[in-house]
Amino acid sequence: MRVAEGSVGKRCNCTGEDGRRLGMRCSKPRRADGGWSSSHGRWVYQLELPRGRDGKRRLLRRVPAEYPNTRDAAMRERDHAKALVQLAGDDEQRRDDLGALLMRTPSGQGLPSRDTVIRRLMLADPSKSTSPSANS
Ligand SMILES: [Zn+2]
Repeated sequence: MRVAEGSVGKRCNCTGEDGRRLGMRCSKPRRADGGWSSSHGRWVYQLELPRGRDGKRRLLRRVPAEYPNTRDAAMRERDHAKALVQLAGDDEQRRDDLGALLMRTPSGQGLPSRDTVIRRLMLADPSKSTSPSANS
């Protein structure tokens, strides 16, 4: 299964003329020389989760739990999230459950560990709850 790359960037609370947050569109986190400013905004990552059975797109967008807030911290947590997504494989039910689990975890609070996710996914294993004679 292909897992989205995800992205890491800086986000701040600046708002545009319409009063809405600029998010990653804010130009201030960039220094004049094109590098990232160290003092403006916080490092965040986002990762598109695989579509579940409803076909809806789900975007995981979070501040990493690790402190201090650095680009590396954001990349590490993004990689962890990607590894968790891979656990669900091609099973839509598991993807649904995993997506819900990740989306439920508040931003800035660490993602569940690999072991926790495996346990949860095993509990939701559809092969253990459906009857084998569903097809006639
Ligand atoms: Zn800003």
